[in-house]
Amino acid sequence: MIRYGKRAGAASGLLGMLCVLAEFCFLFPELLVTPDALPLYRANLGFFRGLLLGAILATFALGALSVLLLRSKAHGLLGMGLGAVALLLGGAQAQPLGIGGGPVAAGLDYFVLELLALGLLFIPLERLFALREQRIFRPGWQTDLKHFFASHAGVQLLSFASMAPAQALFAWAVHAPFQAAVAAQPVWLQFVQILLVVDFMTYWIHRAFHRVPWLWSFHAIHHSSLQMDWLAGSRMHLVDVLATRAAAFLPVFALGFAPAALYAYLAFVSVHAVYIHANVRWRWPGVRWVIATPEYHHWHHSSEEEGIDRNFAGFLPLWDLVFGTAYQPGHWPARYGTVNFQPPEDYLGQLLYPLRRHGKRTPYG
Ligand SMILES: [Zn+2]
Ligand SMILES: [Zn+2]
Repeated sequence: MIRYGKRAGAASGLLGMLCVLAEFCFLFPELLVTPDALPLYRANLGFFRGLLLGAILATFALGALSVLLLRSKAHGLLGMGLGAVALLLGGAQAQPLGIGGGPVAAGLDYFVLELLALGLLFIPLERLFALREQRIFRPGWQTDLKHFFASHAGVQLLSFASMAPAQALFAWAVHAPFQAAVAAQPVWLQFVQILLVVDFMTYWIHRAFHRVPWLWSFHAIHHSSLQMDWLAGSRMHLVDVLATRAAAFLPVFALGFAPAALYAYLAFVSVHAVYIHANVRWRWPGVRWVIATPEYHHWHHSSEEEGIDRNFAGFLPLWDLVFGTAYQPGHWPARYGTVNFQPPEDYLGQLLYPLRRHGKRTPYG
């Protein structure tokens, strides 16, 4: 009972926080909402207002449950307090205040909706099919949530920055008739092509992040998680995120795929990338060498000797098989993390970590 009370209290607090952030999105859309997504929200305003109302009600219900079950009322009351703030800010009827409208907006909407969708999908999956017994709010989850926030709320800035190198350096590679032919292909075929070229690029950039010592100090942040779950995959230094996206964008920019194929790929890969970090025990026996599964990527995060510098591919183990870096025995790794050092646990410490001097460092130390 106490366990359920704690979970309900934590869920109420988190959901309440998301509700308050969502209210801000409704009040200051020009300032906080991804501009490209605004028409979509406006066309489905009823749905998103309903979603917000549902979330506020769930915040109160979970908060009340926690207050009933626990002697300590703090979590439940905090959740209900946040729910009340969301109602005071306008509830499901909040109207835009017409402030803002600069060239860049925070992607707060993307953070709120993505966290809600991924949480609703993966938290139950990890409860029902857990690989290891571990808590939802395991050590380090707050740091990972900050990484998640930075890479989602900063989506517009990150996209600009990751597209700039290709646009500045490879404009000469763009050949309009060729791009038109690429974009005229069936969307599913373009989807497969994007998958192939982007996965090939990210395989090599990922390998470089492991091989080059100063790059490794950025990427080591991603490997510093001692427990794997859906949120652990978000632990990534912003320089790592930017460099990886910039490399991934190069072939996409040069080949000129249709936006529909590109968006389908982005939606697919964002869920897949979360999934391969998840604490789920499905092993996918038929396809474990065809597509990257949690077992495959968990080995990439292993701190055991045999897993080190293995399985760089994000989606297709093919690249690891071709270039001699594949490793997948018949069991799961026993432990995760970096080997000879442990980066700091706090968000700011992790951001600053690569900038500090660490003396001589071996690729994995
Ligand atoms: Zn890695
Ligand atoms: Zn990973």
